[in-house]
Amino acid sequence: PESLRRDVVVVGAGPAGLMAARRLYEAGQSVAVLEARDRVGGRTWSAEVDGAFLELGGQWVSPDQTELLGLLDELGKETYPRYRDGASVYISPAAGERHVYEGESFPVTESTAAEIDRLTELLDELAAEIGAEQPWAHPRARELDTVSFQDWLRSHCDDELACRSVGIFIAGGMLTKPAHSFSALQAVLMAASAGSFTNLTDEDFILDRRVIGGMQSVSQALAAELPEDTVILNSPVRTISTEPEGGVTVWSDNATVHAEQAVIAVPPNLYSRITFEPPLPRLQHQMHQHQSMGLVIKVHAVYDRPFWREKGLSGTGFGPDELCQEVYDNTNYGDERGTLVAFVSDEKADAVFALRESERRRKILESLANYLGAEALTPEVYYESDFGSEEWTRGAYAASYDLGGLHRYGAHQLEPVGPLHWACSDLASAGYQHVDGALRQGRRAAEEILDKTT
Ligand code: FAD
Repeated sequence: PESLRRDVVVVGAGPAGLMAARRLYEAGQSVAVLEARDRVGGRTWSAEVDGAFLELGGQWVSPDQTELLGLLDELGKETYPRYRDGASVYISPAAGERHVYEGESFPVTESTAAEIDRLTELLDELAAEIGAEQPWAHPRARELDTVSFQDWLRSHCDDELACRSVGIFIAGGMLTKPAHSFSALQAVLMAASAGSFTNLTDEDFILDRRVIGGMQSVSQALAAELPEDTVILNSPVRTISTEPEGGVTVWSDNATVHAEQAVIAVPPNLYSRITFEPPLPRLQHQMHQHQSMGLVIKVHAVYDRPFWREKGLSGTGFGPDELCQEVYDNTNYGDERGTLVAFVSDEKADAVFALRESERRRKILESLANYLGAEALTPEVYYESDFGSEEWTRGAYAASYDLGGLHRYGAHQLEPVGPLHWACSDLASAGYQHVDGALRQGRRAAEEILDKTT
């Protein structure tokens, strides 16, 4: 491997690492970015599959994601809104009844609707009061971090359907973990990071727009702005040595980089794939074992036309007990074909991953047909994004703490260790788990280094 000397070495060429590299380069620092994969973009990945353009990873932009929106502007990238005309479909749990409805509220009984509104208000209040910056510092942090979101909902509401309908927006919908496995505080962080819990339940807000050309093109554009050969692909970082007299040496498959500072821009569940010499402090060792990735299958199904629109349907569907908990129209900009995207989350994903591929596909398409009709059974192109089996991610969408981890460790998660600085969407406050949060963390880590060195 070649040996390089740079001011800063960045590990990981996802949105966070590339944003850090951009900011450092702008400030006059020399930079190398080491990337394990043969491409940039990390959990954003826009690809052609069997002739169809698909967003295999992160894709949606919401109005509060101002760091991402600002960058899109600077890069001259345009966005377009998700198709949303027409009625939505709700499949009620247990009974499995299909309801076609207009407006924002699920078609449930008046008393369940009132309970959903009450829980939503409670979560909005907590999110506003606790915020996303330092949820661990709030006086109620320990109380809320030591009860599961599942139990918290049920201790505030006797209506099981209301609990489930609220729970899915954070459990299956965002953290992609069962609601019994993370805390109420972790749920509040998720809500606060998107502005409010109401924002998370409003698909017209949180899934507002897409990038023309694909979300990965943002990372590609960031990489293209850096001097040639800054980003070194196919180069997993194996060992990071920090020198007692200052400085850091990063050993990867294609290059060894000697630098003053490093940005580790990989998700926390992967830190232990790297050998640190000397080892990281005990607190880091412990903390990193309490952060884990969720699991979700992002399903893509492409049809000769968006047939659901002919029936007055938007393509949006929710079903707490359905295999695909959510489905949306994901038709590409200017495309005649119609694309649906759907999500199979956590324990439901476990169950279908135990099946043969053909059986899994059949069950998933049957779930799409439950929402939108039998035409859904026969797509022209079908693909399942499975970041859980990707060596350099190991889950989706992002990492979160297990029960009690957020208030126990959160205050320390961004503390630099000597010359090592941390950046990824999994450690974000605003934009937590999203591309926007990754960019914010990349910028923050770069500023932290610039504050030290200039
Ligand atoms: P990553 O994108 O994971 O980048 C980390 C990089 O580090 C990767 O390229 C990886 O290969 C590399 N790496 C790891 N280990 C090493 C090593 N040892 N050496 C060198 N390189 C290494 N967000 C949204 O905003 N909107 C969405 O609609 C959305 N949907 C999503 C759907 C899916 C299926 C997934 C998976 C994610 C989605 N997200 C979405 C989340 C978003 O994609 C991520 O939050 C974002 O990409 C995180 O950026 P990052 O730079 O922090 O990490």
